Amino acid sequence: MSVMSKRILVTGGAGFLGSHLCERLLQQGHEVLCVDNYFTGRRANVAHLLANPRFETMRHDVTFPLYVEVDEIYNLACPASPVHYQHDPVQTTKTSVHGAINMLGLAKRLRARILQASTSEVYGDPQVHPQTEEYWGHVNPIGYRSCYDEGKRCAETLFFDYHRQHGLRIKVARIFNTYGPRMHPSDGRVVSNFVMQALNDRPITLYGDGSQTRSFCYVSDMVDGLIRLMNTPDEVTGPVNLGNPVEMSIRELAETVIALTGSRSEIVHERLPWDDPVQRKPDITLARKLLDWQPHVPLREGLVATIEYFRDLQDRVAADEGV
Ligand code: NAD
Ligand code: UDP
Ligand code: UDP
Repeated sequence: MSVMSKRILVTGGAGFLGSHLCERLLQQGHEVLCVDNYFTGRRANVAHLLANPRFETMRHDVTFPLYVEVDEIYNLACPASPVHYQHDPVQTTKTSVHGAINMLGLAKRLRARILQASTSEVYGDPQVHPQTEEYWGHVNPIGYRSCYDEGKRCAETLFFDYHRQHGLRIKVARIFNTYGPRMHPSDGRVVSNFVMQALNDRPITLYGDGSQTRSFCYVSDMVDGLIRLMNTPDEVTGPVNLGNPVEMSIRELAETVIALTGSRSEIVHERLPWDDPVQRKPDITLARKLLDWQPHVPLREGLVATIEYFRDLQDRVAADEGV
């Protein structure tokens, strides 16, 4: 399929999701500007793209104004792992809120389309299951997760106010748990934790009794959904849920990772983090209808690719260290 080449800004482009998005947009023939402050992202994630003359990186913190010339903006900049977003919670809120204001200001000046990487966390610890876009959520405004949850909720508010007040063309994606290669090995999220622990025969840290549920989407499916949403007609603003509706308990995930790695790891229980949502599963009826989108990669297949990535990464680190 041939597309008109556009100049596309991806904030958070050196992160896990952002690097896959940059790669896919380049494959489609676009020019890509990756803006990142490298808080949780890594240059290594985009190193293989640097030789492409249509790709450019820029170290920049989105809480500060940004003056560049582009046709489209994907706003992904924000730490996504609870460990990282709680490390400097004030900066997390600033990234979501000031970052959204700056990127919306940029989109307003350029009359550019802008997509926000929102999150299933806007539903908090949901009392409606599975979660539909109509549900307003159940979020603690003053807890440890609030910097992320409320920051993302406020960013959504800003997107819709810029849309109504200034006629901006916006797209809001509510992303559910996504995993895959290029997650940071010490990212702290469950898939990377379990895989790294299993590969090293270290104890698998199951928080609480492991009965809490999540629904895991493979990164290639997510990137496909984000691009489809960006390319919808102007009247489609979202929010649209993007995620894999196959729900499982975290205990089942631990057992699957152990089985797929052939690990000797044992499961140990640790304290459940504050406000850890009990259950989460996207209703993707709207995405199916508006984007003709649904995930295709089954969990086992995605996990095998992710395990392979972390295994290679460990081997390379060991080789560099002469181990
Ligand atoms: P990630 O931590 O790998 O990527 C985030 C990127 O943003 C990193 O490269 C980081 O350095 C950069 N960044 C952070 N603060 C910044 C700032 N102030 N200025 C510029 N760059 C900054 O996480 P990810 O999983 O790739 O998440 C990407 C986006 O998708 C985030 O906005 C996240 O909230 C959203 N999201 C992800 C998931 C998921 O499961 N992966 C789920 C819901 C929402
Ligand atoms: N902004 C930016 N790049 C631009 C235009 C605006 O980073 O190309 C930032 C700028 O910091 C501004 C914010 O976006 O404060 C919001 O812009 P808007 O035009 O909505 O508001 P104002 O300029 O009136 O504050
Ligand atoms: N979790 C776990 N062990 C870990 C990391 C996470 O049991 O080493 C649990 C965590 O308590 C949560 C689920 O796995 O119930 C998903 O956690 P993650 O941090 O990946 O994402 P989020 O809570 O934001 O969905």
